[in-house]
Amino acid sequence: MRLILLGPPGAGKGTQAERLVETHNIPQLSTGDMLRAAVAAGTEVGKRAKAVMDAGELVSDDIVNAIVSERIDQPDCERGFILDGYPRTLVQADAVEAMLAGKDMKLDSVIELVVDDKALVGRIIKRAEEAAAAGKPVRKDDNAEVFDERLREYYKKTAPLTGYYYAKGNLRTVDGMASIDAVTEEIERVLSGL
Ligand code: AMP
Repeated sequence: MRLILLGPPGAGKGTQAERLVETHNIPQLSTGDMLRAAVAAGTEVGKRAKAVMDAGELVSDDIVNAIVSERIDQPDCERGFILDGYPRTLVQADAVEAMLAGKDMKLDSVIELVVDDKALVGRIIKRAEEAAAAGKPVRKDDNAEVFDERLREYYKKTAPLTGYYYAKGNLRTVDGMASIDAVTEEIERVLSGL
């Protein structure tokens, strides 16, 4: 199963992706996680991405497309994968399509988690507080100021993807305001109908 989770920052994509990993035994491909790992490792990509990520803006399509293309060639992606936080622009969406076509693969579904804007910033602040309380590193972009920019980037560059996938007949929407368990159930219901 090849799945894209779409939705603004704080919609719950990462949380739901982790559950899908358990249930379907396919990897979660989070470009945010991959980029954070590159920043932490101090690689060339990490050095180029760091300031952009800290400002809440999007890293260049070329960098992200290259990371994903390499990742989906790994053996653990043969049975499928969950794309979390990618694609985020129309250029990336075209790139995924080309990547998959080149590997004789196709996308099964795009699930959009729909959450009110007002709830999003609260979730991001809560995530930062929980990480701090657990002694885990707090993401530099999980604060109210940077969140505003992340949401602006989402509306400007990522929101058009819902129309793109709707037109292709791939888009399914799920109410992301429901409880975590209810959202998981709804996603599973969508997937069982594929
Ligand atoms: P996330 O963990 O998905 O919230 O991503 C954190 C940050 O990583 C974003 O604000 C961007 O700066 C960068 N990033 C993650 N995925 C992408 C992507 N698909 N395209 C461009 N930038 C990305």
